[in-house]
Amino acid sequence: MGAALDSVPTSGIIRIRDLMFSVERPYRLDQGDVSFAVPATFKAAMKAAIDADHSHYLQTAGLPRIQELLAAKLRRANAIPVESAGDVLMTSGGVHALYLSCQSMIEPGDEVIIPDPVWPQTLSSIVAAGATPVRVPLHEGLGWRFDLDEVASHVTPKTRGLYVNSPGNPAGGVFTRADMGRLAALALEHDLWVIADEAYEDVVFDGREHVSIASLPGMHERTSSLFTFSKTYAATGLRIGYVTTGRAAWRSRMTKLLGMTINNVSSVVQYGGIGVLEGDQSVVAQYREELQARRDLFYTGIWDAARHVFSGDPPAGAFYAFLGIDPSWKIPAGASSASRSWAMAEHLIGKARIGCVPGIDFGPASEGYVRFCFARERNELLGALHEMRALFA
Ligand code: PMP
Repeated sequence: MGAALDSVPTSGIIRIRDLMFSVERPYRLDQGDVSFAVPATFKAAMKAAIDADHSHYLQTAGLPRIQELLAAKLRRANAIPVESAGDVLMTSGGVHALYLSCQSMIEPGDEVIIPDPVWPQTLSSIVAAGATPVRVPLHEGLGWRFDLDEVASHVTPKTRGLYVNSPGNPAGGVFTRADMGRLAALALEHDLWVIADEAYEDVVFDGREHVSIASLPGMHERTSSLFTFSKTYAATGLRIGYVTTGRAAWRSRMTKLLGMTINNVSSVVQYGGIGVLEGDQSVVAQYREELQARRDLFYTGIWDAARHVFSGDPPAGAFYAFLGIDPSWKIPAGASSASRSWAMAEHLIGKARIGCVPGIDFGPASEGYVRFCFARERNELLGALHEMRALFA
């Protein structure tokens, strides 16, 4: 790879994060981090693991107990027909699971269909593996879902794979069971593989259903399904995720890569994971309810403070407000960029201390949007809304 990495795009989210460090008393609505503490069961199990000196090498794919718990969870909650606990591989977060999947499944020159807008790390991982990403729009009018005929029309003889992210980052669309059925039919018809990024599986609002595409007939063998503790248990910094697929050849490649990249996920964190999985799961619903309340608080506030500047409906899932910038908004004189979404981000950060991510980072078609994360404390959201009202008065 080497020099090829030079042309792999990096995320502008990093540039924003650096900008935010120069802001005093910032509103950190830029990064996708939840403000909750990890559940007490997670902390207690990590402390116990430290005291028990669980600080040595482990099995590459993960502790058998956590694999067992996750295999049971995948069968029960996701209806994925995981054959044996050893089919679940522990990774250093979802981002690592995505990287392992891309490296194990992609051949140079393959075309891979991705949603537009897309999470920048997805694009980077696909390009780093030598594939050509093919963007297919998610439509705001469809609740940020695909038009499935449009997806089919982008399949060419070179198409090998499909990246499916529901609930989606940045726009929060949730694909229905019927959507997943059509995507699965397309994969079966054209012999495509699927990477199912289910990082936000537990963040679905208004009683919606999360559907794992690998639960549909014939799909587990051609899908790599990836998950993370980051969002479900508010554990972004602990770096624990997992991946499973019904195809043994991919699991074996991914296990090799685990050996080369991390050897094993931190022992203490895996014991913590066992603790949280064995504990009371009501915390997951509590987080979801609070996130839904924060979504509603944020949208009510935006409509009140800046309806003439921003538009968009509350998302069905994930925890981002992906808002359209009104065409009447003029780029302020002296803006460092001709990009509307960058100029808006700079304006909000510079004048109101509000972090956000320019739409352009998620693809050229999203130039007219900005993303705010509403998984922050209510006070932080209210403070940002207060500043916004003054800014756009
Ligand atoms: N997939 C998507 C779509 C995400 O937004 C994220 C986090 N921003 C991840 C995967 C992975 O997160 P982590 O590496 O923290 O598990």
